[in-house]
Amino acid sequence: MPLDSEIERLAKTLALKNALEHGGKAAFDAVISKFIGSRPDKRSEIKSLIPDIKAVVQAVNAMPAAEQKALLEQLAPGELEAKKHVESGPRLPPLEGAVMGSVVTRFPPEPNGYPHIGHAKAAIIDEEYARMYQGKLILRFDDTNPLKEKLEYYDAIAEGLKWLGVKPDIVKNTSDDISKIHELGKKLVETGGAYVCTCSQDKIHDLRGKGLPCECRLDHSIALDRIGRMFDGSYEQNQAIIRFKGDMADQNTAMRDPTLFRIIEGEHPLLGNRVRVWPTYDFAAPVEDSLDGVTHAMRTKEYELRNALYFAILDRLSMRKPAMIEFSRLEFEGIPVSKRKIRPLIDNGTISSWDDPRLPTLSAFRRRGFVPEAIRKFVLSLGITLAETKPPFESLEAYNRKVIDPTSMRLFFVRDPVEVRIEGATPLEVTLKNHPTDASLGSRKVRVSDRVYIAGEDAANLKAGDEVRLIELYNIRIKEIITQGGKVASIIAQVGGDEIRQSMPKIQWIAKNDIVDFKVMIPKELYIGEEYNTNSLEIAKGGVESFAAALAPDTCVQFVRFGFCRIDGNNTAILTHR
Ligand code: ATP
Ligand code: MG
Repeated sequence: MPLDSEIERLAKTLALKNALEHGGKAAFDAVISKFIGSRPDKRSEIKSLIPDIKAVVQAVNAMPAAEQKALLEQLAPGELEAKKHVESGPRLPPLEGAVMGSVVTRFPPEPNGYPHIGHAKAAIIDEEYARMYQGKLILRFDDTNPLKEKLEYYDAIAEGLKWLGVKPDIVKNTSDDISKIHELGKKLVETGGAYVCTCSQDKIHDLRGKGLPCECRLDHSIALDRIGRMFDGSYEQNQAIIRFKGDMADQNTAMRDPTLFRIIEGEHPLLGNRVRVWPTYDFAAPVEDSLDGVTHAMRTKEYELRNALYFAILDRLSMRKPAMIEFSRLEFEGIPVSKRKIRPLIDNGTISSWDDPRLPTLSAFRRRGFVPEAIRKFVLSLGITLAETKPPFESLEAYNRKVIDPTSMRLFFVRDPVEVRIEGATPLEVTLKNHPTDASLGSRKVRVSDRVYIAGEDAANLKAGDEVRLIELYNIRIKEIITQGGKVASIIAQVGGDEIRQSMPKIQWIAKNDIVDFKVMIPKELYIGEEYNTNSLEIAKGGVESFAAALAPDTCVQFVRFGFCRIDGNNTAILTHR
């Protein structure tokens, strides 16, 4: 008896769910018992349904995991996502054409700067797909411009990825393959797919604009004559380049005979002065992806126009073509997420280090108190869309807060401290819990006399007669506010009752004999529109409890009513987020 479509749908859904929970293979018995559980009304006819359900299970078990997931998503939309979110946070959609066990992805940063959160997005997506299909992730340093690259940057990128928890299966450099790349370049010229051009940069630019070829392109014998000299040192920097023979009239200007190789005089961090002819990104990327066995090459949408060139080069060299997948660049409002925008700030001294907390570099995020787990969840939550929306920075903060909240001690920081003298206070020692719910984070003992400090902003909001709660201590009633030059200089109060009322302000405080000078750096947006924000780093000055001042750098805390901070050393912390 053929299954009616509703029954078939249910059987398929149950088989898919069971398969995905058990490494791709559904157990027939489990599917049958789930089936009867969902449709007890069919119990009496189960015998006649068994052969068809068996066939469904077999068909499901023959599918690759990606297909199982895709089909389940189609039959029971949201089922998979909901489960994943609960279990391990957001996940990426299946990869088209992926075969379990043979997916190869690569992350190809140029070692010309420190890694940033955009790199985290690319690297995490590359890695997730490699893992999803039990494939391989290659970290390939795209080091083909000796004028820009430094050993320091290779190390910084490797370090950043390590911190993120991205583990490449293979680490290599494009420069490792420079001989092969040269051979392929020569071959391309010899077979008429490229030529050596000795025109001036102005002329090249001009003809490109007009869509016209130059003489170098027209006669193949010229190319054959020059190709040996291109590599034997006969030409100086800027005297000759190798250009792809594309189409000078192509609507897509990336196809108008782009540069594939140029001569660069400079010391390469790994190869020194041995190599003078360097491939451009346009040539190195496709050739390397193909040589490396990459099956799915992922890159940001900015390269969209260069996709045609990527495939044309491989076509002309008769090389295997990877699938190309594009996603949008990650940008935040007011924060440039690109080395070419960050580097000038460092070079011109506006910002002194790559881990300045205002920057979106991984070292800056780390220094601010962001954790890799939160960055990964955030990146995966963005998915791989092409939509050019800037995600709100708050979304990344929310993921981070969720991770650090359970382990961050609650401590007191008072900004712009104002002294309060509490009449009638008897000296006492209080024990303050370091975390409201997790006793394993311990507690601290504080001796309180009749003088405490409160934050200037809280002081400014008080008036005589108010009753406020000093958190975990007691209430005080404000007797007198002493001002000086329009600002609150000090306060005189009296010990109040002990009843905590909903309406009363509850504020943090620090005992006078326990306060230590302390600063918190508050990073703000680097740019307002196109303008550098001169107030992008605010410094909050004040004091903390001696307990907080003694914490080791790298500790994440929550300063009550102020925000989550990471201790940076030298009596300074950095605001992670509110
Ligand atoms: P530059 O500005 O010097 O080009 P970059 O910041 O674009 O530097 P690359 O080294 O060119 O960094 O990029 C390495 C990889 O990371 C590329 O595959 C690129 O697509 C990806 N990538 C770079 N920036 C972002 C970003 N903001 N969002 C997502 N992916 C990015
Ligand atoms: Mg780039």
